Amino acid sequence: MPRVFNFSAGPATLPDVVLEQARDELLDWRGVGASIVELSHRGKEFMGVAAEAEADLRRLLSISDDYVVLFLAGGATTAQALVPLNLASAGQRADYVVTGHWGKTAIKQARPYVDVNIAATSEAGGFRDLPARADWQLSPDAAYVHITANETIHGVEFRDIPDVGDVPLVADFSSSIASEPLDVSKFGVIYAGAQKNLGPVGVTVVILRRNLLERAGQPRADIFDYRSHVKGESMLNTPPTWNWYLAGLVFKWMLAEGGVEEFARRNARKAAALYAAIDGSGGFYRNDVAAPVRSRMNVPFFLHDASLDKAFLAESEAAGLIGLKGHRALGGMRASIYNAMPEAGVRALIGFMDDFRKRHG
Ligand code: PMP
Repeated sequence: MPRVFNFSAGPATLPDVVLEQARDELLDWRGVGASIVELSHRGKEFMGVAAEAEADLRRLLSISDDYVVLFLAGGATTAQALVPLNLASAGQRADYVVTGHWGKTAIKQARPYVDVNIAATSEAGGFRDLPARADWQLSPDAAYVHITANETIHGVEFRDIPDVGDVPLVADFSSSIASEPLDVSKFGVIYAGAQKNLGPVGVTVVILRRNLLERAGQPRADIFDYRSHVKGESMLNTPPTWNWYLAGLVFKWMLAEGGVEEFARRNARKAAALYAAIDGSGGFYRNDVAAPVRSRMNVPFFLHDASLDKAFLAESEAAGLIGLKGHRALGGMRASIYNAMPEAGVRALIGFMDDFRKRHG
């Protein structure tokens, strides 16, 4: 069975070369005679893998020493709960800008711990645009401002980092981290579940400005405390070693391919081609997001007649294009075109969409 093009939103496609390397090393990691997943996380082999992964991610994203990098379990959802627990005092105000589904889950995770102020939301318009920065109702005493850099379901992305003054900006970058160069210094916290652009599900990257560790936060267990994780070098308990190792292979692949500058170029080309195909389909396909904030990573689209959805999914799958079913919250289709989706995959999808339209138009 040849490899298909996989447009899943996450877990998502990984580079063939990474999977091949993982396969080749699976039973005998570099002559040790055991798999990396069978070795102690505190042994020199895995400690080396972990340190290299951090160094490579720092290089990839130009992360300075003012920031700590954590590799944690628990997914982005746990990260959403750790932010208020660590950055705010109990019941303190925190500002949230809601631009889609995942902004809402971030609020759900924060509500037990902070006084959530929805500083802006684009929900009334169906999350098809970003609320204008001028209309945000930020609180001067907020512990932080939270945004979702890229909304995976609604396909809306911040193309500029909003200026929020001296209040730390916290951003969920789960579905767009490492897709282009990023000025980390503009953020207090960046977090991202790995399962879209960084590797397999099971490890979450947290990039945290060191001086925020001075905040007292709220009463919390050690395992929810950033400071303990920093002190324990993300090994406060047994970390997800396999996922961390695989993410490390993805970082090396990204660096070898030319780093985030190169992925920014590829991602821009892929997204432009796919949106052009949708917009140029004479209404057969439709994407409702305002053009300047369309996501480069997740492209939701609808067929003009939803009764064709089933045929579209069956025929695309038969053509070797999988994972195109839209999220149940929106319906329709969604093509996720992360770093590891080659340009050939997007060309194949566009070719299929053209062909489908001609046959069903
Ligand atoms: N934030 C965003 C932007 C996401 O896309 C997702 C998952 N799709 C999450 C948070 C939740 O991630 P997890 O399942 O790793 O908790």
